[in-house]
Amino acid sequence: MAVKIAQTEEVKKFLNIVSGTTSEKGNPRTKKIVHRILTDLFNTIEEFDVQPWEFWAAIDYFNDLGQSMEAGLLTPGLGLEHFLDLRMDAEDKAAGVKQGTPRTIEGPLYVANAPLSKGSARLDDGTDKGEVLFMHGVVRDLDGKPVGGAIVDVWHANTKGFYSFFDKSQTKYNLRRRIETGPDGRYEFQTIIPAGYGCPPDGPTQRLLDQLGRHGQRPAHIHFFVSAPGHRHLTTQINIAGDKYLYDDFAFATREGLIPKIARHEDAKKMKEKELNTPFSEIEFDFTLTALAKKDAEEVVNRRRVEAA
Ligand code: FE
Repeated sequence: MAVKIAQTEEVKKFLNIVSGTTSEKGNPRTKKIVHRILTDLFNTIEEFDVQPWEFWAAIDYFNDLGQSMEAGLLTPGLGLEHFLDLRMDAEDKAAGVKQGTPRTIEGPLYVANAPLSKGSARLDDGTDKGEVLFMHGVVRDLDGKPVGGAIVDVWHANTKGFYSFFDKSQTKYNLRRRIETGPDGRYEFQTIIPAGYGCPPDGPTQRLLDQLGRHGQRPAHIHFFVSAPGHRHLTTQINIAGDKYLYDDFAFATREGLIPKIARHEDAKKMKEKELNTPFSEIEFDFTLTALAKKDAEEVVNRRRVEAA
């Protein structure tokens, strides 16, 4: 039986010093949070009798995670990003805030300042021979009225499951665009159907998932930010229906209401209309934005984001 010391006065005093609660300086909130995390960690080490070699393996893991730039990948993998969504949903419900299109995780692969166009855009640079997809719809408010001047910021992976900017073999801003809706609230774009993707198989995220007996695969999806003055910033994704991992996403992003029907057109006349000689797919999807609630009046988006130089 391992010796228990985490609850002794000596260790409690030690934790206070470590987390700065005995100091006048510093940030009180940070101190409280660090105190709680360390207390839980001390208890975990004790409860599971964590051995020094296991502890140092975990430290090596953190270094590896940072060096591989995978902290933002592990976070959704451990359900933390989905948990934040569930909390915001619950807060809205408690406050009686009406929901528009469901929110879901952002993931780590957004790049700011993609080219902006009005009404429509083509996302792909024509080099990826994936199936052509036309997606279109209307941005509306909760009363169903079209929202003009909304920005639909869209990004997705190519047919190999890779994102431009992070994948240096793709052209700048490939499969990334911002589209401003006209007075009718409409947006439309042409692109290619993305593939699902997985965590790098040799990376630290997959290594932990292996220990948990879990895969690291995501179903094919398209990311969106939709924003307009007077409305809440919406972070969401739509899934490509029929994907093998649709309800088995390692990042837990799939939500009802975000799986639009995908129509496949093989008719020669329709193909000709689109100036194509291959079958293509089409998705119609309207976004509904939630009006700014009182508590959002000073909404701050303070997440650090990559900007392609
Ligand atoms: Fe993604």
